[in-house]
Amino acid sequence: MASRTEAPAAAPLVVRARDVTKSYGKGPGRTQVLRGVSLDVAPGEFVALVGQSGSGKSTLLNIIGGLDHLDAGVVEVFGLDYRKASETAKATLRNQRIGFVFQAFNLLDSLTCLDNVILPASFRAGAAAGKAATDQGLEMLRRVGMADLARRRPSELSGGQKQRVAIARALFGGPELLLCDEPTGNLDSETGREVIEFFRELNQRDGVTLLIVTHERRVSSVAGRVVAMRDGAIVEAEGVEAAAHGDEAPPAEARA
Ligand code: ADP
Ligand code: MG
Repeated sequence: MASRTEAPAAAPLVVRARDVTKSYGKGPGRTQVLRGVSLDVAPGEFVALVGQSGSGKSTLLNIIGGLDHLDAGVVEVFGLDYRKASETAKATLRNQRIGFVFQAFNLLDSLTCLDNVILPASFRAGAAAGKAATDQGLEMLRRVGMADLARRRPSELSGGQKQRVAIARALFGGPELLLCDEPTGNLDSETGREVIEFFRELNQRDGVTLLIVTHERRVSSVAGRVVAMRDGAIVEAEGVEAAAHGDEAPPAEARA
């Protein structure tokens, strides 16, 4: 039994971002992309990040995922302070606890679907990714309904099938946080709906925390919370009728 001498820790946040700034370029060509962004994401949340093109959504997502550096402010993911952590510590966190899904799928056409899914394990374990990785890769493909096509190459698949393979790859290793950048942006509406339904299930059944950049109302209507960006800052989400579309979610005011 755990000792009671220490105060119980507050439930740690998955993401804690404070006053994050980021700019690209130097001199007159310099663009301030993030102007002091603060965002918390709690375990098990499903957050939709919306806003016009160029508002800084991808930049914020990439910084939270440890794929890009912040200039100033604080970003902690699973308690790891990115500006104090080594690149190795960040890479380990990324590998073990975070999954990524991108609009462009980013699958390698020289590999089968299965090999795309287990590629992260191959990086970790070298050539000896082995049977355990193969089994887990197949299981992930089964979960997204793609096990039958495991030995195909991505070039032989439809957009929706490619995105399901990309989701299987993101889920490989059991990430607790999934970061998705316009995951339905290249899909027709029916396929997009299926992918969103899968995300909803993943969140509700498996408790995976989701942060999804999207233009789509459908996503924001199933998300637990909608965060809007404009010109590099988080703004009051206008017209977040997400709650009004569904029966489950309470009105935004009731959750504030
Ligand atoms: P969003 O995802 O909301 O469309 P982005 O985060 O991609 O927005 O981009 C925000 C702004 O930052 C845009 O003006 C874009 O041109 C600029 N930007 C993004 N990445 C880079 C980069 N690597 N170098 C220079 N400018 C960039
Ligand atoms: Mg973007």
